[in-house]
Amino acid sequence: MMHDVARAARDQRLDADVVVVGSGAGGAVAAHRLQRAGKSVVLVEEGPAIDPRRYHAESWEAMKQLYYDQGMRAMVGNLIIPTMQGRVVGGTTVVNSAICFRLPDEVLERWVEEEGLRDLSPDVLRPIFDEVEEFLNISPEEDRYQGRHNLLMRDACAATGWRGHAIRRNSRGCHGCGRCILGCPEGAKLSMDRTYVPAFLDLGGELLTGVRVEQVMVSRGRAVGVRGRAIDPVTMRRGRRVEVRAKAVVLACGTVGTPAVLAESGLGGGMVGRNLVNHVATGMLGFFDQEVRAWDGVNQGYCCDHFRKDGFIVEVFWAPLDLMTIRVPGFGMAHKQRMARMGHVAGWGAMIRATSKGRVWARPGKAPAIFYWMNKRDGALMQRAMKATADLLFAGGAKMVTPGIHGVPTELTDPGQTRLIAEANLGSQAFNPIGNHPMGTCRMSERKGRGVVDSHGESHQVERLFVADASVFPDAPGVNPQVSIMALAAHCADYVATVV
Ligand SMILES: Cc1cc2nc3c(=O)[nH]c(=O)nc-3n(C[C@H](O)[C@H](O)[C@H](O)COP(=O)(O)OP(=O)(O)OC[C@H]3O[C@@H](n4cnc5c(N)ncnc54)[C@H](O)[C@@H]3O)c2cc1C
Ligand code: SF4
Repeated sequence: MMHDVARAARDQRLDADVVVVGSGAGGAVAAHRLQRAGKSVVLVEEGPAIDPRRYHAESWEAMKQLYYDQGMRAMVGNLIIPTMQGRVVGGTTVVNSAICFRLPDEVLERWVEEEGLRDLSPDVLRPIFDEVEEFLNISPEEDRYQGRHNLLMRDACAATGWRGHAIRRNSRGCHGCGRCILGCPEGAKLSMDRTYVPAFLDLGGELLTGVRVEQVMVSRGRAVGVRGRAIDPVTMRRGRRVEVRAKAVVLACGTVGTPAVLAESGLGGGMVGRNLVNHVATGMLGFFDQEVRAWDGVNQGYCCDHFRKDGFIVEVFWAPLDLMTIRVPGFGMAHKQRMARMGHVAGWGAMIRATSKGRVWARPGKAPAIFYWMNKRDGALMQRAMKATADLLFAGGAKMVTPGIHGVPTELTDPGQTRLIAEANLGSQAFNPIGNHPMGTCRMSERKGRGVVDSHGESHQVERLFVADASVFPDAPGVNPQVSIMALAAHCADYVATVV
């Protein structure tokens, strides 16, 4: 059953076998899996449950409705890098692009080796990935819903000989309206609010919405529940007290939220919030003679993963036009003239497996601050990735490319000019990236002093306190993370079910 507690008139107190906090990629899967294992589970979510028909079509309204900090959350350091997170039942899966990759075997093997992880291997996760992929109908979109901008990358890969493929997506009945990042108005994207959360409720699970968990309760070194406050989704005003007592606590508030709850509780040790990693991504626009109409078709439907093992992949990207305008260079008439050609534009972007580090600095009673410094190595990798992206756009038939890199001409009009990207003396601050895949702030490691949780996601400091979200990743895997988060959360939940 679902209870909206945001404006409850009375304090709430519940009991369960397990309380799971956060209903995004990690929390929804963990809650469902535990309920299916016969445990009584209370799932607590800060955001509201929103019917897809109520999603706003206007970007800024939708961001207020669905994102933390109205979509303005950023990592601050030698650059300011937007890092967005959903605040709604279903978490960031509600606003993501539905791109689905499995964790590459070699990445997991490296994690196992470097962090001394136990009971984790590609063979252990394979059946979990199979199950998640089937449940979420993960498959490439039909060509008719891809749109020209995705199919052009397919042509470009064929022309360059670089490996590429249609992106596999968690959707059913998608007709390519391209609005994924504002929430799918058709309910076609199989985000957690459409899949694992309803399946959890069908099994008898309890969902509390509109509750921000503030603290984990601990007794004799063991987690015994959580407490927090109802929170109004519009005014953010704190309301009644909420307490859920349980035999185990699973935190899945995301890479920023989970260290914040741990810090507020004075738990987790000195590594909490450290080791913030991300996939840094940035895009460029290609102007074609032919009509592209990038707003027709899925926003991210094709990728070139030829250079994945070198540390980057190139993916098509698109966003609603009011957001795309900020990627169009120029002011006044120059901007207007380029905007007039938007029907002929494709946006492709490079995403690097960044090694840069940052920190979520969470202090009791204060909103978390996010620091991140992009290092020279990542700047150089981004430079290489952007050159490849420009080459790909020209190979796909673009007549002009706007790289959006400080220190490189605003317009490149000839394929030979892409060398200007490679040859420019660029630092990491020359780019305008985003980093929507924050990970790592509660690193999973068996090595002393390196990790916050062990191989099953259990805290090194507090018994029966688990973390099941992106924050457990030891480093950036180099592919879009949602399915890997789900698989690791399922692995964690299976273990929790054996101890509770
Ligand atoms: C615009 C965008 C596009 C993306 N596209 C893709 C993509 O196509 N493919 C992909 O693999 N990844 C994508 N991602 C990233 C991916 O969606 C996230 O990595 C993933 O959802 C993170 O899962 P999580 O469980 O760690 O956190 P989330 O999914 O963010 O869930 C955390 C939940 O916890 C709740 N919460 C936080 N704090 C509290 C608290 N104190 N009390 C109660 N509840 C709390 C939040 O409201 C949220 O619902 C995208 C991200 C963005 C922003
Ligand atoms: S492209 Fe449109 S219909 Fe398809 S999943 Fe995204 S928002 Fe839904």
